[in-house]
Amino acid sequence: MSKRLVILGGGESGVGAAILAKKKGFEVFVSDRGEIKDRYKSVLKSIDVEWEEGKHTEAKILNAAEVVKSPGIPDAVSLIVKIKEKGIRVISEIEFAGRYTNAKIIGITGSNGKTTTAMLTYHLLKKTGLDVGLAGNIGDSFARQVAEEDKGFYVLELSSFQLDGMFHFKVDIAVIMNITPDHLDRYDNKFENYAASKFRILQNQTKYNEIIYCYDDEVIRKELENEKYEGVKHPFSIKTVISEGGYINKENLIINTNNKLFKMKITELALQGKHNLYNSMASGIAGRVLDLKKEVIRESLTDFKNIEHRLEEVGKVHGITFINDSKATNVNATWYALENYQNPIVWIVGGVDKGNDYEMLAELVGDRVKAIVCLGKDNHKIHEAFGDIIEDIVDTETAQDAVNMAYRLSRKGDTVLLSPACASFDLFDNYEDRGHQFKRAVKAL
Ligand code: ADP
Repeated sequence: MSKRLVILGGGESGVGAAILAKKKGFEVFVSDRGEIKDRYKSVLKSIDVEWEEGKHTEAKILNAAEVVKSPGIPDAVSLIVKIKEKGIRVISEIEFAGRYTNAKIIGITGSNGKTTTAMLTYHLLKKTGLDVGLAGNIGDSFARQVAEEDKGFYVLELSSFQLDGMFHFKVDIAVIMNITPDHLDRYDNKFENYAASKFRILQNQTKYNEIIYCYDDEVIRKELENEKYEGVKHPFSIKTVISEGGYINKENLIINTNNKLFKMKITELALQGKHNLYNSMASGIAGRVLDLKKEVIRESLTDFKNIEHRLEEVGKVHGITFINDSKATNVNATWYALENYQNPIVWIVGGVDKGNDYEMLAELVGDRVKAIVCLGKDNHKIHEAFGDIIEDIVDTETAQDAVNMAYRLSRKGDTVLLSPACASFDLFDNYEDRGHQFKRAVKAL
């Protein structure tokens, strides 16, 4: 008799899990409370997997041997509570797929910089000629790749929600970028719960595995003093000289692994800005730990193409530079964005606030921002936080109005920066939609 695997969520990860499960002989059922995209429906049909949308039929779910849950579904919803009460294990697609591959795994987590670092690391491995896949929150799901064309290496971007559904999966090279408050609504508003979820990336590691982590992040540094983490530690810092790991010395980025030095000029890095020093260092260390050639690492860190919606330069209009940082959905990401520009900034900010504390931005905003354009339905917290230090704060509700207003408020030499520090769901489909609308509005000026 085949085992029944129920998959909740018919998106990329759910459908990937369905493909893999079917191939491994499971009886598979996919259930999505929302709509399933047509292209995924046709995949499910082609592999003969039963599915439903717009509802969760409990009778077809509570008889599962195991449930694969999309990271988008909170643990607190009643269906998940019921499933767990019945003693059915709920896992993530990454945990499931991990059972069927022997690949070496580089896993990247953190509050910000996951996608950038994962793509940069993937670029680096690929350029060296390794057989590598990129998955997690990016591109084709891990499960689909394992099912269709298993690779020797995977670079995985791991969110805290994915890590919550991981139990036996082992990450060979774990990268922890930073841990700052985000998504606290799903962690009982407790920062320590959210942080604990990130450290799950280290579970199951042995002394033969590696831990690459940000030494400048106090939460991470303190946790890693704990001896229960057996992996070899490679800290990186932009403030302190590190004997075994990554650091900055004058104009150079230095990586020291196994007493071998790698050195390159900061000005040669493709990704500029302080936050990107961290990202480049983390990727570079991963490369060195894998013993990749120094020249290839240098080349990869130099020729990497920046990704859309992350401090992306959209263009110049009458000497005013427009930057799309729509992916900055929390205060920490926006801090690095504001920190990155010396010119007077007209700052477009706002959206759905996940419990933001704007205090940490006050000094930078006072120094660098000349006007604020709010782009959100409810902007009262932004007015409250900055009303005393910034004279011009205006409200807008479309990307076009925000861009037109920002344009009016700026002059030659200024930077118009969309770095919202908030999620986008009040006015847009997602952060990509917000970024695209912003770019269209700039092009229309
Ligand atoms: P994630 O996948 O973790 O959301 P991204 O690479 O997509 O991270 O970047 C999200 C936002 O955070 C962008 O606005 C980006 O400019 C900013 N960012 C990127 N790397 C870092 C970092 N190391 N620290 C803080 N902010 C960062």
